[in-house]
Amino acid sequence: MSTKLSDTALFARRESEARSYCRGFDTVFTSARGSEITDAKGRTYIDFLAGCSSLNYGHNDTDMKLALIEHLSADGIAHGLDLHTDTKKAFIQAFETHILKPRGMDHKMMFTGPTGANAVEAAMKIARKSTGRTEVVAFTNGFHGVTQGALSATGNGYHRGGAGTSLNGVTRLPFDGYMGEDVDTADLLEAMLNDASSGLDAPAAIMFETVQGEGGLNAARPEWITRVAKLAKEHGALLIIDDVQAGCGRTGGFFSFDGMDVMPDIVTMAKSISGFGLPMGLVLVRPDEDVMGPAEHNGTFRGNTHAFVTARVAIEKFWADDAFLGDITRRAKIVEEGLEAIASMVDGAYLKGRGMMRGVDVGTGELAGEICAKAFENGLIVETSGSDDEVIKILAPLTTPDETLRRGLDILIAAAAEVTGANKIAAE
Ligand SMILES: *Cc1c(COP(=O)(O)O)cnc(C)c1O
Repeated sequence: MSTKLSDTALFARRESEARSYCRGFDTVFTSARGSEITDAKGRTYIDFLAGCSSLNYGHNDTDMKLALIEHLSADGIAHGLDLHTDTKKAFIQAFETHILKPRGMDHKMMFTGPTGANAVEAAMKIARKSTGRTEVVAFTNGFHGVTQGALSATGNGYHRGGAGTSLNGVTRLPFDGYMGEDVDTADLLEAMLNDASSGLDAPAAIMFETVQGEGGLNAARPEWITRVAKLAKEHGALLIIDDVQAGCGRTGGFFSFDGMDVMPDIVTMAKSISGFGLPMGLVLVRPDEDVMGPAEHNGTFRGNTHAFVTARVAIEKFWADDAFLGDITRRAKIVEEGLEAIASMVDGAYLKGRGMMRGVDVGTGELAGEICAKAFENGLIVETSGSDDEVIKILAPLTTPDETLRRGLDILIAAAAEVTGANKIAAE
C-alpha cells in the first residue's frame, strides 16, 4: 500500500461513494492562497471553483487569517452555542453598519445551523409558521440544499431521488426564461394565484435564487424579480430570496438583488458569508415575520464563533466602501470576454449568469465535461452546472488579480480550442 501523500487510493477505498467534486479533481490538495491551490505533487492550480462560491474573497485572506490566529491565541471562545460572545457582537455590528443600514433593511439576524440547507429549512419553517399556510412556490432548476425540507424545493431529479420519500408542500413553477424569451412565466404565476381553482393553494412563500447556481446560471430579469415580489406581497406570501450562492458580491452587489426595487421578507445566506470558507448559516428576516420562538429552530452549531471572527473582517474589509464593487465589475468584464471566446468556438453556445457568476452553455454535458477535464490537466479547476451539466461555470474568487483571472481564462480557452478542434477532426 502506498503511503505517498499524493496517492488517492485511500479515498476510493474508504471514503463513501457520496464524494463528488474530488472525482473530477483527483489529487491531494495541501495548501492554498488567494486564487491558487497547490497539491501534494507541488502542482499549483488556478481555482475557478472557489468552494462553489464559499471563497469569494479567495483562500486564506491574510487579514481574516491573522484575526483568527489572534482569536485562537487569546483563548477566545471556540464554541458558544448561541451565547452572547464578543465575536458575535462585533459581527452583528459590522453587518448592521455596512450592509443592513445602508440598504434600509430592518431585518433581524437569525443564526441557523452552519449550512445553506439549514438556513433554507429555517426560512421555509418561518414562512409556514407566520402565514399558517403550507405550500411554498419554488421554481424549475432551483437548488436550495439537500436536507428534506430544502430538497422539496430543489428541482434536480438526481438529488430529489436521494430522499427516498415523498417531498411535499412545494409547487414548482417555471423560472424566468424557462419557456423561452417570448413567455413571461410570471404571467402563469399571476394567473394561478388569482384562480382559486388553479390547484395552487395560497402559498406561505415564494422562494427563488436570482441567479440559479446549480441549475445552470439562469439569471432572472430584474423586471421578473420585482413582479414576482409584488405578486408575493399581494397574495400574502413571504418572499424568500436564497442568496446562499449568488450573494456576498458574487453577482455584483452584496446581495444579488441590490439595486432592484425589491425587499425580500427573508434572505438566506451561507457559503461566503464567513468570508474564509468556514461553516456559517444566516437568515435575515423582517421583524414582523421573526416568529420562531426561543430554540424552536435550534442547533448546537448556530453561529460558528470562528466564522464570526472572519465574517466580521470580510464585511469591514470589502464592504465598507464601493472600491470592491468596482473590482468586481471590472473582473466580470474580463470573465465575459473570455467566455465569449469560448462561445465563438461552439455552434449555438451562449453566455449565462450575471456578475462574477458567469458561464457558457456549450450544449452538452459531455462537451462541457471534456473541456473542464482538459483545463484541469493544464492547471485550472473549474466545474459544470445545469440540468445536463452543459454549462461551464466560473466562480473565481472576486479578489482574483486581473492577471491571474486572464491566465485562468486562457487555460480554459485553450482547453476549449483543443477539445472542439479534436471533435471537428473526429467528425470529418
Ligand atoms: C449551496 C446552496 C445551498 C445549500 O447550501 P449547503 O451549505 O450546501 O447546505 C442552498 N441554496 C443555494 C442557492 C446554494 O447554492
